[in-house]
Amino acid sequence: MAKDPRRVRREPVHSELAARVVDCCRALARFSEEPESTTRTFLSEPMRDVHATLTSWMTRAGMSTRVDGAGNLRGVYAAADPGPAESTRSVPTLLIGSHLDTVPRAGAFDGVLGVVIGIALVEALHGARLTYAIEVVGFSEEEGVRFGVPFIGSRAVAGTLDDDLLERRDAHGRCVAGAISAFGLNPADIPAARAQGPFLGYLEFHIEQGPVLDGLGVPLGIVEAIAGQTRADVVFTGGAGHAGTTPMSHRRDALAAAAEWIAIVEHEAQQRPGLVATVGHVSVEPGAANVIPGRCWATLDVRHADDEARKAAATRLAGAAHEIGSRRAVDVTWTSRLDQPAVAMHAAQIAVLQRAVLRAGVPVCRLVSGAGHDAMIMAPLMPTAMLFLRSPGGLSHHPDEAVREDDVAAALLAGLHVLDELGTVRLWS
Ligand SMILES: [Zn+2]
Repeated sequence: MAKDPRRVRREPVHSELAARVVDCCRALARFSEEPESTTRTFLSEPMRDVHATLTSWMTRAGMSTRVDGAGNLRGVYAAADPGPAESTRSVPTLLIGSHLDTVPRAGAFDGVLGVVIGIALVEALHGARLTYAIEVVGFSEEEGVRFGVPFIGSRAVAGTLDDDLLERRDAHGRCVAGAISAFGLNPADIPAARAQGPFLGYLEFHIEQGPVLDGLGVPLGIVEAIAGQTRADVVFTGGAGHAGTTPMSHRRDALAAAAEWIAIVEHEAQQRPGLVATVGHVSVEPGAANVIPGRCWATLDVRHADDEARKAAATRLAGAAHEIGSRRAVDVTWTSRLDQPAVAMHAAQIAVLQRAVLRAGVPVCRLVSGAGHDAMIMAPLMPTAMLFLRSPGGLSHHPDEAVREDDVAAALLAGLHVLDELGTVRLWS
């Protein structure tokens, strides 16, 4: 065992540990609200089994555990005794985490993998204590499925959970506070869920959930930023009429106007590097085969790592909608639903991660996350970084979602190099 607590032992990470990480995720996927698939929403009954399984592994790895007032599973691996000269200084903590809830009919790795890798990293220390504590957090809620609001778990840890949110109700009429009580926890304990500094930072391992790394043949990706999002509802109002008797020159077809605009949305995103734009839902009124569409509702989702680029794209798309409307005598209303800024990952943390990835023998690939993650909630509170693991086939939110054992082994090795560097270099205080 390493005598010097500042150094993490550098033995190779055995593929056996990576295999156990994958097996553990697959075993946890069986804890589900549905018999044939994996569905596990905020503090649903199967979450108890997930907590029990992970708690026993955390305990074996030398961690003390608790479930906080927001239902997050927390495991703390204490630092080395700082000794009398340092005893008055508080010891910093590195948080490693991700979420334990899932979307309906989910795969086995989204979220859970990041928690299990955190525990495996602690186990790989073989009891050696570091100059800092490690807290592994399994967030109770990230997907927003049960209450329509995401990040309940990480917002509680960051201390940014609004009281209003506790009143939100699920499909059965139960509020967030009620769900917490029903799980045997006390909503009054939520303020105590807030992480207490000083922090070394927050590190999240997560599957990419997209095809980029797989396409490049690279196992790991360093996240530079989490893209900002614009969402809007766009309503085209023309005039309904008889599909047989109304000449084309007399029509004010709301759906045809929307269709012209949707093609522009796609084209705009194709022309601008880093931009993605989606019309994910349309509905048409009156919606009959023999009636000209009188009204069409469309949603718009625009994402980019650069907020100015995102806002400029949204402005151009709004202009295009109005131009099409005035040309076709169709009224257009534009209602903004979300304007969420991009969240940059911490530059010094990215540098640590980059060195760790290189030391693990993996080429460096940096990318932007188009999806939201707990890391964007933690980033304002502490230096935050994310490491993506390749998603075979780019598949996620699907039962066939997978991860390669070799990639998990590479992530574990990179993670140990991060722990090593953080123990010897004081990058932030
Ligand atoms: Zn996730």
